[in-house]
Amino acid sequence: MNVTLPPLPYQLDALEPHISRRTLSAHHGAHHAGYVTRTRALMRTSPDATELEDVVRSSARDRGPLFNAAAQTWNHAFLWRSMRPGGGGEARGAIAEAIEASFGSQQSFHQQFITAAGDQFGSGWAWLVKDGERLKIVTTANADTPLITGQLPLLTIDVWEHAYYLDYQHRRLDYLAAFLGYLVNWDFANENLAAGRLSPPASVKVARQVVSSL
Ligand code: FE
Repeated sequence: MNVTLPPLPYQLDALEPHISRRTLSAHHGAHHAGYVTRTRALMRTSPDATELEDVVRSSARDRGPLFNAAAQTWNHAFLWRSMRPGGGGEARGAIAEAIEASFGSQQSFHQQFITAAGDQFGSGWAWLVKDGERLKIVTTANADTPLITGQLPLLTIDVWEHAYYLDYQHRRLDYLAAFLGYLVNWDFANENLAAGRLSPPASVKVARQVVSSL
């Protein structure tokens, strides 16, 4: 089985002081790694899958253990690239124009994103997606993902408590403000918008020949 843990695109302390080394180490090295391990184990029952996205989509109906593990594996790989050291602030380029067209202004987008992510009850995710010709903010519970709704994900933030509790405790809104102010990777959003389709990292692809050898 060749679902692998993609390396972080930055050092463990690169997002400090907004996300600590301690949080990122546990989030990537324990939580994300755990989802990868679980996906590998459960993939033995889906030998025909060649892409992680296909595993997520084909297992979505029952929301069972394979869906949860595979979707969380994919969601976290997307999350790491949604942030960068020195990120945040005003969007630039095509994504800025699309945000202004869809939400009226960047300030309005910020307010709506923080409200949506703050109101997501329990564990889940908030996403900026392209849905048809417009951008939307959507939230998903637990492992759910825009991969299964036909929307194109552009950015995400993890609002499971494991993503922020060590650094912010119950103050989710402060975590969301730090994400928008200092971490969000607008270059990644622009890349996704320009591509117009999913472009997963090679490291989360599933090698067919390896799967078939189980
Ligand atoms: Fe997480």
